[in-house]
Amino acid sequence: MKVGRELDALVAEEGIGLPKVEWNKETPCPYCGSEMHYLVARAWCSVCSEWRYGPHKEYSEDIAPAWEVHKVACGWIFSQRREYLHALQQVVSGRLSLESPHKLVAWPDVLVFLEPVDICLAVLVVKGIDIDAVDVPLRP
Ligand SMILES: [Zn+2]
Repeated sequence: MKVGRELDALVAEEGIGLPKVEWNKETPCPYCGSEMHYLVARAWCSVCSEWRYGPHKEYSEDIAPAWEVHKVACGWIFSQRREYLHALQQVVSGRLSLESPHKLVAWPDVLVFLEPVDICLAVLVVKGIDIDAVDVPLRP
């Protein structure tokens, strides 16, 4: 599974418990709820002035919707929230050790290095999803 729509759907439905949404000509814009103009596999939202490629927000690629996921996870009960923060640190430190000399010093510093996909993967870990099946490209 790649970063993108399939992962976004997994995060929405399994990660933060949103209802399953079919992607069809009736599906509204996930950001503003407006009716969209469909063209084959994508749709144009004239309110947001953007193309949409699926019924869910781009959690794995855009930090703004990813941050909504983070806020949901931060609202979980203590044990789950703690597990989420631990998973987030694991995901981030795994990525950083592969690509850069950065070191994680303390939790607040982790936020500096967060990628949208890190939040997605950490949430899925807490929900018991095997994230090794998710193919995450390393940044240059
Ligand atoms: Zn919109």
